[in-house]
Amino acid sequence: MNKKYVAPPYRIKMVEPIKMTTREERIKYLAEAGYNPFSLRSEDVYIDLLTDSGTGAMSHYQWGALMQGDEAYAGSRSFYRFEQSVQEITGYKFVIPAHQGRGAEQVMMPQLIKKPGQVMISNMHFDTTRAHVEIAGGRCLDVVIKECFDTDTYHPFKGNFDLEKLEELINQTKVENIAGIILTITNNSAGGQPVSIENMRAVKKIADRYGIRVIIDGARYAENAFFIKEREKGYENKSIPEIILETFTYADALLMSAKKDGISNIGGVIAIKDDYELYNSCRTTVVPLEGFPTYGGLTGRDLEALAVGLKEALDEDYLRHRIDQVRYLGDRLRDAGVPIQYPVGGHAVFVDCKKIVPHIPYHQFPAQAVCNEVYLEAGVRPVEIGSFLLGRDPDTHKNLESPLELMRLTIPRRTYTYAHLDVVADAVIAVYEKRESLVGLDFEYEPPVLRHFTARLKPIK
Ligand SMILES: *Cc1c(COP(=O)(O)O)cnc(C)c1O
Repeated sequence: MNKKYVAPPYRIKMVEPIKMTTREERIKYLAEAGYNPFSLRSEDVYIDLLTDSGTGAMSHYQWGALMQGDEAYAGSRSFYRFEQSVQEITGYKFVIPAHQGRGAEQVMMPQLIKKPGQVMISNMHFDTTRAHVEIAGGRCLDVVIKECFDTDTYHPFKGNFDLEKLEELINQTKVENIAGIILTITNNSAGGQPVSIENMRAVKKIADRYGIRVIIDGARYAENAFFIKEREKGYENKSIPEIILETFTYADALLMSAKKDGISNIGGVIAIKDDYELYNSCRTTVVPLEGFPTYGGLTGRDLEALAVGLKEALDEDYLRHRIDQVRYLGDRLRDAGVPIQYPVGGHAVFVDCKKIVPHIPYHQFPAQAVCNEVYLEAGVRPVEIGSFLLGRDPDTHKNLESPLELMRLTIPRRTYTYAHLDVVADAVIAVYEKRESLVGLDFEYEPPVLRHFTARLKPIK
């Protein structure tokens, strides 16, 4: 292994055995799963790169903290520990837990969207965020920079807002029709691409000029801060907590899935800088949706694990190793000529499958075909982010064509070693080398909504 990659700043003291399988077994498992890796049993997967959400390894401090959960219905000691962690990290005054990111979204979105048709503007809305904006009657517009869609050209901050487009949109839409601006850090849908401080500062300045609220969708704010330290001028010598505190000065509230940078298996966060009215309306709404405001759908022990995990994610040695693992996998693939979103982001390597299997049309799901072959090759489970995920046009019922056909290899936190990543790289490279033999897929069963979770497919002979 090239020595420029950083070794883990932890050692292993508990292991979870994983099953080794043969190709013959995997052929059988994949057929049983209807050629859809979502339907595989996790037991039949050797290296699971479906998501980094809730799949990380907790530290012994977190496991120790679990034993101290205060399960009181109201006013739990664990809530106050959680609240203190969030306040210290964000500098925000008001904190409410939620069961996960979408729980936080379902509580806050109706407070922001005051009349139907109001617009939420983001660099790029994450799926569940988009869903909750739409459920609350709003509409979503994305204004990420165009470099974001150019997978092989380097840009240090592919998650940045296109500031010109943002102002143009505000002027076109009229301020009273805008519900808010959502800063997604890192930009998950584009591969965990970071947003620079300079860009966030400019967004906030524009927002303030028009009196628009800025909300951070901050599932990976710690990873974003690491990229700022690494790539942004003037931030080389700032600490990660300092960069994060500055980040939060450019927004008015935080919505967070704590299953990512909270390094916990479940949890979500609502935090509000100082707007008591917004806090009060969220506190009222959280009760019927998530639970009493001091537990928000979590157990006391979950809150304890989060209070610790949120802090551990700020450790620079941890972040350097985490992001290096992603970079390592990306470099190995790039060195072999496999086309990927470059540079890699904070949590995943996105493989550009449109370039690998151009002979498979979008309605035969090229990225899904590559994902399946990678599973057959080595028992690795990636996930498709392309036309299979996108679904059909609700009016014409035609398959929509995704601008990118991606295979996402998502790295769980503190879970796999570089040796595992070599298995992944070798498998993807082997599939790349026999790319011409891959065939497209057709539906055997297609569910009417969110088809990618439960659809059954079959290879086109
Ligand atoms: C994961 C995620 C969410 C949703 O969080 P869940 O915990 O999965 O409900 C929202 N926004 C972003 C950017 C995410 O990555």
